[in-house]
Amino acid sequence: MHVDVIIVGGGLAGTALAVALRSAKLSVALVEGKVPTRTAGWDARIYAISPANAHFLESIGIWSHLDRARLQAVEHMSIYGDTDGRLQFSAYDSGIGELAWICESSLLQCELWESVKRQANVQLFCPARPAAMTINADQVTLQLDDGRQMTCALLVGADGADSWVRQSAGIDAIQRPYDQLGVVANFETEKPHDNTAFQWFRGSDVLAWLPLPGKRISMVWSIATEPGRDLIQCDAEEFSQRVEQVGAARLGKLSLMAAPAAFPLRLMRARQSAQARLVLIGDAAHAIHPLSGHGINLGFQDAASLADVLLQKPEYQDCGSLALLRRHERARKEEVLALQTVTDTLHRLFQAPADPLAPWVSVRNIGMNVTNQLPLLKDLLVRYALAS
Ligand SMILES: Cc1cc2nc3c(=O)[nH]c(=O)nc-3n(C[C@H](O)[C@H](O)[C@H](O)COP(=O)(O)OP(=O)(O)OC[C@H]3O[C@@H](n4cnc5c(N)ncnc54)[C@H](O)[C@@H]3O)c2cc1C
Repeated sequence: MHVDVIIVGGGLAGTALAVALRSAKLSVALVEGKVPTRTAGWDARIYAISPANAHFLESIGIWSHLDRARLQAVEHMSIYGDTDGRLQFSAYDSGIGELAWICESSLLQCELWESVKRQANVQLFCPARPAAMTINADQVTLQLDDGRQMTCALLVGADGADSWVRQSAGIDAIQRPYDQLGVVANFETEKPHDNTAFQWFRGSDVLAWLPLPGKRISMVWSIATEPGRDLIQCDAEEFSQRVEQVGAARLGKLSLMAAPAAFPLRLMRARQSAQARLVLIGDAAHAIHPLSGHGINLGFQDAASLADVLLQKPEYQDCGSLALLRRHERARKEEVLALQTVTDTLHRLFQAPADPLAPWVSVRNIGMNVTNQLPLLKDLLVRYALAS
């Protein structure tokens, strides 16, 4: 079987790309290891989706199909340093509707999956995994683990941070584990959150509370691996109390809604995201610390950029040509590098011990307070985050 494009990995980035190619005159195969399912109750894996990506998802016919009762707008953001640093953002002050939308991962994933299932130019291979690939000048040959074989003009690796495609193509990646876990959990709160996201920098630990509809929040706590493992062993009562304490009981008593989950955190950047006949998108190309909440936002923008390049190319042009794929790579390089650098620098700045007399402690907290007094800089930061 021959198709124009094979996408390996039907996570959010890969499926969004397939959906964005709906109107392309290209045949697409999507290879995914497991069928997505909707989490019962409230998914602990949630994303802060930027307005730019809400717009992208709207443009591919997904956003307006999501259950509005499960979406929460973030209108305010309060960030606290480890001494007296404080930074506040408000959608109202920046003249916009919302800073971000909080959305469950499985809600988005299932909507994208339902859409791609109905798409005439896409064939789904799921559950299936690639077993071998060969790239030559004219095409890529992919063999699946069930023995089926297909060829394509362009292979897209959207198979996450441990990308099989990236490794099989021999593309080297810069990898730096943070020795931290991202612990995620949802809580019912005693007090209303007023559509506010909170973030506390406590040395290298970063605790984020993101508002969910009703009196509920979703937590992402980036915490050193060992204490993180201890944390998830706690019973529901102790776990809730510890989270409540770091957040200075800002929303009163917290009640854990379901068992927490934990993910190891790392910085990863593929040395190149495009070569002839192959391109990497989403976490296969770059993984970022969750403190900026930008991982999948970068992945969606990769999908949007690649789809754009493929949709706009002349019909005669080979969709695996290096010149074409480099156009996409150039368009994405700067933003990915900027966000990885900013989040990594922030992480390092707050990683230094929280001795109130140490100079870096003053720098990071004064920096927050100074930024908070500069409406133009704050506006710039908001507008950059909205567009990413
Ligand atoms: C704790 C935590 C909190 C986060 N919070 C946020 C946030 O608030 N906002 C945000 O934007 N980002 C956040 N992120 C980052 C975000 O989760 C990732 O950037 C995003 O999931 C990447 O999507 P992806 O589709 O590129 O990869 P993945 O989600 O990893 O999807 C890869 C897909 O490929 C499939 N696959 C893998 N290997 C194969 C194979 N060999 N064959 C077939 N299929 C395969 C997998 O089954 C999966 O479906 C967070 C990350 C963590 C760890």
